[in-house]
Amino acid sequence: MRIVDIRERTFPISSPIRNAYIDFSRMTLSLVAVITDVIRDGRPVVGFGFNSNGRYGQGSMMRERFIPRVLEAEPAELIDDHHDNIDPDKVWAAMMGNEKPGGHGERSVAVGTIDMAVWDAVAKIEDRPLFELLADRYGSGTCDRRVFVYAAGGYYYPGQDITALTDEMRGHLDHGFTVVKQKIGGDSLDRDRERIEATLAILGPGQHLAVDANGRFDRATALAYADLLAQYDLFWYEEPVDPLDYELHAVVAEAYDGPLATGENLFSVQDARNLIRYGGLRPDRDWLQFDCALSYGLVEYLRILAMLADHGWSAGRCVPHGGHQMSLNIAAGLGLGGNESYPDLFRPFGGFPDGVEVSDGFVIMPELPGIGFEGKSDLYRLMADLAG
Ligand code: MG
Repeated sequence: MRIVDIRERTFPISSPIRNAYIDFSRMTLSLVAVITDVIRDGRPVVGFGFNSNGRYGQGSMMRERFIPRVLEAEPAELIDDHHDNIDPDKVWAAMMGNEKPGGHGERSVAVGTIDMAVWDAVAKIEDRPLFELLADRYGSGTCDRRVFVYAAGGYYYPGQDITALTDEMRGHLDHGFTVVKQKIGGDSLDRDRERIEATLAILGPGQHLAVDANGRFDRATALAYADLLAQYDLFWYEEPVDPLDYELHAVVAEAYDGPLATGENLFSVQDARNLIRYGGLRPDRDWLQFDCALSYGLVEYLRILAMLADHGWSAGRCVPHGGHQMSLNIAAGLGLGGNESYPDLFRPFGGFPDGVEVSDGFVIMPELPGIGFEGKSDLYRLMADLAG
């Protein structure tokens, strides 16, 4: 059993939207196919992966470093003898050969994308959904196919007014979401107050708003917003300050009683641990958004979950960034608190398998082998083309 080829291609996921930090007009991602010599129904088992929005395609790093290291490894060195399968840990170790510690820049995205495809292949080789495999190998043995999801939207875009914003939010609620998220920090505080109050005014019982500053604020602005936001019962206040400024997170946590959320721009277990050690976050209310597709994959995410447990944090406090099916599987298999979803954005990569509907804020994971990409026809068309 071996990996015979790894293919990658860059796709645009461009959109005229912007948050407080970046616009998405030139955003791309990498799609990867890991092709094995295991034959099912006359065809090779192929695993697929892609990185989530916000960090661009990583094809050059994959071609120059990570793909050759896997293909040049002795096939026997990548085998999981215990499960008669490919071993994601060993593939990960092969990719990370000759990489120094620290400086977790965008190589974590390249590795995380290939890692996703490896896990998809491993679960397909066992002919079972990834969430079941994860629950058996790393979780309690039982999975919960019902996963909480929230609608991330409310971006700034040309010509947007309050009516367009509330129409969008009403659409998410009508589609079954109970938590909606909108951007802050891309306009003045007064304008953001108007946008927040407009959305709050359309929420019904059991429906909540989260806001996301995308790491934009300095200390004074983060605290001014904390003052403003404290008067509303928000689901969370996300990335108030620079993701790597742990002390400033602690200052905001001291000033703001409501839930904070952060972590989507921390790409390693070491960075995640520093957030937990020094960020002043509170395990009884705050939320962690590490996204395996940007941060060295599930092999590293398992290390993050172990680190969190050591520090008294439950996996239930994790609601990953990214809106992809990989994190839905991790949520169902390992008891995360839920997953992000982008109802109208980043198609066809984001979203759920065909026929999966959001109801009362939850989705039910279908029983598909691997991550379940074959159940999402628009995405699978691209994948099948890459696999050949
Ligand atoms: Mg965010």
